[in-house]
Amino acid sequence: MKAGQKAGYPRFKGGDRFDTVEWPKDGDGCRWNSQPEHPTATYVRLQGIGHVRVVQHRPVQGTVKTISVKREGRRWYVVLSCDDVPERPLPATGRQVGVDLGVARFATTSDGEIVGNPRADFHHKTARALIASCDVIAVEKLNVAGMTRSAAGTVDAPGVNVAAKSGLNRSILDAGWARFVNILTGKAEEAGRRIVFVNPARTSIDCHRCGTRCTRPRQDTVICPACGPIDADTNGARNIATRAGLGSGQAAA
Ligand SMILES: [Zn+2]
Repeated sequence: MKAGQKAGYPRFKGGDRFDTVEWPKDGDGCRWNSQPEHPTATYVRLQGIGHVRVVQHRPVQGTVKTISVKREGRRWYVVLSCDDVPERPLPATGRQVGVDLGVARFATTSDGEIVGNPRADFHHKTARALIASCDVIAVEKLNVAGMTRSAAGTVDAPGVNVAAKSGLNRSILDAGWARFVNILTGKAEEAGRRIVFVNPARTSIDCHRCGTRCTRPRQDTVICPACGPIDADTNGARNIATRAGLGSGQAAA
């Protein structure tokens, strides 16, 4: 635009290899369900393509805000994001936890629940279970922009987990955690639950009981000079709970 050229929109990524195109506003180049005279069929109208019939996997709630068309293999998907989605609050449970997202185990809660390694449909299942059973869930704030969590640290809080977490493909891990936290946050909004993001600095390495800096001779254990060995992920989860103001995080105990 600065060069005086016409800015085309929307643009396809990567020539013939594009897999996603997004329209930022319903009604601008695309229109969801644009044939109300056919109430039994759902259509999306795409500029330059026309009306395309879609199979709706679940009813649309709220007001359609953006529309993406996405290719996965030979199938095409329409992905909607919506505003003003009505809440469907779940009953209170009294449980409040800190959740540590880890390497050997996917997640450890401050009250002792352990979620193992990722399987298929894993993020949604884990998020659903936490949302169903907890009123408040605390997690570390992920540095999604840099795709590095506490391992790399920040200017204020230099990384302390570098040694423990080096040698792994961090970007893949962090992308997985970020995706999980996105799913968790979305489900929490819908269910009226609260997600608290805490500063991730030193959650793994400071003793959750006394605050002393621990050593971490192995991935799964930290050793506090005063309190002795502690499961590393549980220690992290309890620090996360404490930082979120959830007490010791051991609500159920
Ligand atoms: Zn200690």
